[in-house]
Amino acid sequence: MEIELISLNQYPFKFREVVFKSIFLISIFFPSFVHSAELSTNKYESFQAKSMGTLFRLELGVASRADGERIFQRCLALLNNLESKWSPWIEDSLIWKINHSGFSGAIPVDRNTFALLHRAHSISVLTKGAFDITFASVGHLYDYRKNVKPSAHVLPSKLNAIDYRKVQLHKKDMSVSLSDAQVKVDLGGIAKGEAIDQLLGVLKQAGVTSAYFSLGGDSYVLGKKKSYPWMLGIKHPRDRTRVVARIPLEDVAVSTSGDYERFFIEEGERYHHILSPLTGASAKGLMSATVIGPEGWRTDALSTSLFVLGLEEGIALIEALPNYDAIAIDSLGEIHATSGLISSGN
Ligand code: ADP
Ligand code: MG
Repeated sequence: MEIELISLNQYPFKFREVVFKSIFLISIFFPSFVHSAELSTNKYESFQAKSMGTLFRLELGVASRADGERIFQRCLALLNNLESKWSPWIEDSLIWKINHSGFSGAIPVDRNTFALLHRAHSISVLTKGAFDITFASVGHLYDYRKNVKPSAHVLPSKLNAIDYRKVQLHKKDMSVSLSDAQVKVDLGGIAKGEAIDQLLGVLKQAGVTSAYFSLGGDSYVLGKKKSYPWMLGIKHPRDRTRVVARIPLEDVAVSTSGDYERFFIEEGERYHHILSPLTGASAKGLMSATVIGPEGWRTDALSTSLFVLGLEEGIALIEALPNYDAIAIDSLGEIHATSGLISSGN
């Protein structure tokens, strides 16, 4: 978990105090919606459970714990459904079927999955392949828990299978095929962000106007917490007790990718779960990459992209996208941010 929610009681909302190194949020990026008296009758309730291979946390303003519990269960049912479709490890999930289709033809998928594969493709095009769900052709040969990495003799043929253009999306019958039997796909760099967007829909439908929720490193801040923006803290990638930046936020998705989530170290080398599609090796240069913006599927895919592209190219990419901002921590622990987050601090 990279992002920590900081209670406003702990950190009174004074911009000068909360901003690290003059990282500042331009408030026009995050228009404030003044929530009515309705909120003041709400109390905040917290829930958590495991889903989609990570921890789902929800803190929301509701009239009663029972109401909160009902909404939480609705969220959890949604996540479990997405996991059963998109986990590459659940036999008969849609992604499992695609990965095991070989040359046996196209796999029909539902509209939602088809749309997400399209979104993944669009980010691959945008990042010139730095983001690529076929990273899994090599990625699935790693086992970070058991210190296993792909052997040198299988690597070249598997590396050749990393190419998003080898995933064919057939609009006519909403099916998916792979043009190379070696290709494996994995939505791990975008699915949790997509889930965040869908959770937001569930919460809004239930009438929730103030919430913070996260799925591992992907999160969303809905509305304000009482009269203040939610305060998010970005933790130091090597010292999880240290918060390096605090940002007041509302109505945005925040995703962080880091080299400390799943990794092992061998002969001084860190093998972690974000791969460069060019080499099949763990991306180097950054320790953590955070992207903030309106849509979770984008912040998720873009945080992975920023991590792969590295500091200069990655920050330039986010800088060019309206409404998206980023904070990157380089291998020396230096913090960098897009211009939307930096102001004079006055
Ligand atoms: P997490 O929240 O799971 O830590 P991140 O947003 O940090 O996810 O992205 C890492 C995940 O993205 C990996 O676990 C893997 O599933 C996937 N991934 C790794 N490298 C790439 C890549 N180059 N392109 C797309 N997805 C990737
Ligand atoms: Mg991501």
